[in-house]
Amino acid sequence: MEVFVVGGGGREHALVWKIAQSPLVERIYCTPGNAGIGGMAQCLDIGVTDLEGLCQFAVDYGIDLTVVGPELPLTLGIVDRLESRGLRAFGASQAASEIEGSKVFCKDLLRRHGIPTASYEVFQARDEAAEYIRSKEGPIVVKADGLAAGKGVIVAQTQREALEALDRIMVAKEFGRAGDRVIVEECLMGEEASFLAFTDGETVLPMASSQDHKRILDDDEGPNTGGMGAYSPAPVVTEEVHQKIVDRIMIPAIQGMAAEGRPYRGVLYGGLMIEDGEPSVLEFNARFGDPEAQPILVRMKSDIVPILIACMDGTLKGAEIEWDSREAVCVVMASQGYPGSYKKGHLIEGLNEAISMDDVVVFHAGTTSKGEKILTNGGRVLGVTGLGHGVSEAIQKAYQAVERIRWEGVYYRRDIGKKALDRLGS
Ligand code: AMP
Repeated sequence: MEVFVVGGGGREHALVWKIAQSPLVERIYCTPGNAGIGGMAQCLDIGVTDLEGLCQFAVDYGIDLTVVGPELPLTLGIVDRLESRGLRAFGASQAASEIEGSKVFCKDLLRRHGIPTASYEVFQARDEAAEYIRSKEGPIVVKADGLAAGKGVIVAQTQREALEALDRIMVAKEFGRAGDRVIVEECLMGEEASFLAFTDGETVLPMASSQDHKRILDDDEGPNTGGMGAYSPAPVVTEEVHQKIVDRIMIPAIQGMAAEGRPYRGVLYGGLMIEDGEPSVLEFNARFGDPEAQPILVRMKSDIVPILIACMDGTLKGAEIEWDSREAVCVVMASQGYPGSYKKGHLIEGLNEAISMDDVVVFHAGTTSKGEKILTNGGRVLGVTGLGHGVSEAIQKAYQAVERIRWEGVYYRRDIGKKALDRLGS
């Protein structure tokens, strides 16, 4: 098979790495890819939102399966476009990916189908939203409706902060049209976890649980990022919690989408809050999470390709995934300054040393190659995943590898996995 992967971050490197292990696959193409992906796939220069360019490539090169990583091409309808040309594409359709593209759609879907989530109100007018906020006490969550690269959610500690957030979204238009509508939402307490599942629109096949680290600084301080590390499994998702998530959240969501004429095929990612063993939905994403995909795919023992195909062909029933019983911890190495401005083009050293370690996998995100050299080329640069018997060993493995890698201005959190250790120790 010829496979085409769309995207160029750590998630896509993990996907390419996993797909490359399948005996069914002869060749992989990826756009735009990165220096790491370039070692196992042919990288192209087609923009991920250039739907016509992507389709034309898939047609011209006889691609058997296109796998779409990021949300933007999904919400623009890349999967529908490829399917209309008779090509198989893994990912949510445009109608289905609205679950991520519009937070209002997502919240209303949850409400319509009785799926647990924070109570909320939706506003189109700034003054009405402000009046509502004034009737509430902090903390309050204010969310822009549309896609805002993970930045359109503000957890405001006070009423004043919430009003400021509202003005950033609706008056200053910091997130553009994504801020045409806002959601003002109850702030949930508890511990977050990510729960990803494959689905063909009927059957839900859960992946191993995971937990992200969204803030830039240790102890979950500082601004939100795309994700600074992740581990799998997440101890907060006990067997009992896992079953509740499947029965009360994932299955009703998939059935609800089907009943509303938006059959959902692909990966459904639930961003969840778990308080006293009770899960609620913070958001749904229509794709693999990044960095969660990295530790999850490193632990996946089964061939991923038949599963991707079964999702799109509606034949997922009866499929199973075998998991490595070891824990995986992924530490993201970033450029100094991220998530704000940062410099690119620094020489990365020590990569080969890290890669040669047992039970360590290094995925590239923002990297580029210049001859034999690998240079930084983004905010999140590398994801270093360590496998171990127990979280503690996995953390050790990951950081031993991280310490071998260096460039000018490298930054990473030192506490990835600590929450899992604390929970297991308690
Ligand atoms: P979202 O993009 O909706 O997942 O929001 C991004 C982050 O904001 C989440 O990972 C949570 O940390 C936080 N968040 C969102 N909604 C809530 C809520 N209702 N209560 C508490 N925290 C929230």
